[in-house]
Amino acid sequence: MEQPRTEATMRKRHLRPIKDRTRLSELAAWNDLFGYCIQCGKIGQIEKSALSKRYGADVILEDISRRLVWRACGTRRGNEFGTSNRPRD
Ligand SMILES: [Zn+2]
Repeated sequence: MEQPRTEATMRKRHLRPIKDRTRLSELAAWNDLFGYCIQCGKIGQIEKSALSKRYGADVILEDISRRLVWRACGTRRGNEFGTSNRPRD
């Protein structure tokens, strides 16, 4: 049984894919946002406040994932978002 690479990697990093059409404002405060590049496999944390400032809190994450340029490899294609529950302290 073969899993798509994205899914397997995200699970390993305890990331959950976001649901389709999720808005930035719908993420809970303790959900950190990560971007995952299916081209090079890199995962990076994305500052929610920076996205909010730039695109507005009600932006649909799916829409901006297509616009993000991945700094690690420069691809504009195939970026996906995931969230993780930050340990509460
Ligand atoms: Zn990449």
